[in-house]
Order: sequence, then C-alpha cells, then structure tokens
Amino acid sequence: MAGTLTEEFVIPARHATAFEVKQGQTFRIHQIDGYQVGDCVFYNAHDYKEMFHVGQSWAINVICGTGTSKSFKHFYSKPPRENVMMTVVDDTCRNHWGNMGGRCSTRLYQLRDNIEAGHRSCQENLTEALAPYGISGDEVFDIFNVFMNVDLHEDGGFTILPTEVSADDYIDIRADMDILAAISACPADTSPTNGGNSAPLGIKIFD
Ligand SMILES: [Zn+2]
Repeated sequence: MAGTLTEEFVIPARHATAFEVKQGQTFRIHQIDGYQVGDCVFYNAHDYKEMFHVGQSWAINVICGTGTSKSFKHFYSKPPRENVMMTVVDDTCRNHWGNMGGRCSTRLYQLRDNIEAGHRSCQENLTEALAPYGISGDEVFDIFNVFMNVDLHEDGGFTILPTEVSADDYIDIRADMDILAAISACPADTSPTNGGNSAPLGIKIFD
C-alpha cells in the first residue's frame, strides 16, 4: 500500500522528465504499454553534489545481504556521503540493471548501431530535463537502468535482452531524503532494450 496519490504524470516516449520527491513520499515508476526501460538519475534536492552511486549501491547491498545487481533495497549516494537516499518498498519486476551506471548516448549509437547523429539518447534527454535545475550533462552521473534486462556472462561480458516488464509492472521507491529525480523513457529502438520500440513511462507520487 503506497499511500495517498498526490501527483501523477507521463514521461513521453523518447523524452525525460525531472521532478522532486519529498522525504517520506514514495514514487512509482510504472509501465503504460509495457516493454519500456527507464534511465534514472537521483540527487539530494538540496545539494546536487550528493548523487546516486551505482557501484557503491551494488557493493553495500551485496555486502549487507539486501540485494544483487538485478534487485536491491537501498540506493546509496556517492562516497564520501554514502547515505541511503531511497529504499525500494515494492517491485513487481525485480529485474533491473543496477550495477553498471551507463546510459545510451550519441557515442553509443555511433559505435553500436552506426547511427552518426540525430537519434535521441538518455544522456541528452536527462541533460535537457535537468537544465532548469542548473545541472549540466557533465553532472549526469550514475544511472539506474530500471526494468532493463541484461544477461551477465561468466567472462565478464553482457548481452542486453528484451525487457521482461509487462504493462502492469511497477517499482515503488521511498525517498529517504528530499530527492531530485530525472527519468528518461529510453529512446532505444535499434536494439532489443525496449523490444524494438520506445514507449512512455508513468510516474505516481504518494504521500
Ligand atoms: Zn537509453
């Protein structure tokens, strides 16, 4: 039970939206059409130097027995802070890519798909969405690849598989401090990431 719904909106396909969540509120990232991955960044709303760190979150959750690279409980900020920024309270998918921090970018589309320019990317989407907050592309740091389905190989490689998330799946995350979030509905349509199509994502904020 997430609480009283106070706000809801849709992140359009291939675009990003930035929004604030107060300490104690829970926000839900949910599917609309299904098969859509999101690339997310999180900051302390009062001090943008404190931001979500993927490697430290992976390490501490594994050490403390609270999660894995696919599904973890606590989002930690970058050292030297290492505070719990947010806590997962419900997760119907439990299959994310929580140990990498990457995102699609112009460079990645060039190298992977031979698309020289003109394809929207999560890096550019998040930069656009965060510009009103004075945050630049250089400060778009580690990404939480929500709903992204990745097969990790024994040799250290990986394969991006089509996401398994369906239209009624969601993740509920409680803010343990005031959070500035930005989430991109990943525009990848030339790889299996989103099942070959880019769809919107929904956000609900509960008190
Ligand atoms: Zn992307």
